[in-house]
Amino acid sequence: MRRPLVAGNWKMNGSMQEVSVLLNALAALELPGDVDVAVFPGMLYLAQAGSTLKGIAVGAQDCAVSAGFGAMTGETSATQLKDAGCSMVLVGHSERRELQCESDDTVAGKFVAAQSAGLVPVLCVGETLQQREQGRAIETVTEQVEAVIRVAGIDAFADAVLAYEPVWAIGTGLTATPEQAQQVHEALRGVIACHSAGIAQGLRILYGGSVKADNATELFAQEDIDGGLVGGASLDAEEFGAICRAA
Ligand code: 13P
Repeated sequence: MRRPLVAGNWKMNGSMQEVSVLLNALAALELPGDVDVAVFPGMLYLAQAGSTLKGIAVGAQDCAVSAGFGAMTGETSATQLKDAGCSMVLVGHSERRELQCESDDTVAGKFVAAQSAGLVPVLCVGETLQQREQGRAIETVTEQVEAVIRVAGIDAFADAVLAYEPVWAIGTGLTATPEQAQQVHEALRGVIACHSAGIAQGLRILYGGSVKADNATELFAQEDIDGGLVGGASLDAEEFGAICRAA
């Protein structure tokens, strides 16, 4: 059995004051003991999150392609994230693929850098509405995953998390139906299984895209959905707690 994981991606949200309030509310939640919970605050708040939260993992939303230290103005390396108390990092979120023009190769480089620094990468994949309408959803996410396998190797997925986030469902209030999501999750597990059945069996695949307290139960009930990557709804501690309890 795979242990569910519910992760909150705060994106570029929160002031010092708001983050303090949210962290304190999260710290006070009664969370289920059989679910892993993680939050991904903005870079400025990672250390504070690490010191406030107990039993909730902290991750960053991005890392540099290089681990370690060096002349890369404005970047934050996985090594530095680890030093700040992070245990995970998102790589390949569609907002970065689109807004920062991150290619599959860049995403693969970040995935490798994260693991070399001892962080668990959460590899995000997902198709656009146009790709879905062209019947290319599974082909798109397959290629996004294969691009990372080519660089990192399949064994790297023994210590990673995959997140399926259809771009058309992010921040739109449109959620993939549980059946649509399950179909892609099953296909993704199949892609991994072509390389290693054992790793595919153990790999957690999260669904992301307008997950809310009122649709989480149905989504998480699907066989290949092992939890969620929650955006907007993770900024409300009560709702996030309810989503964790649905897993
Ligand atoms: P929303 O839950 O706001 O749709 O965001 C999903 C997401 O992008 C999480 O990484």
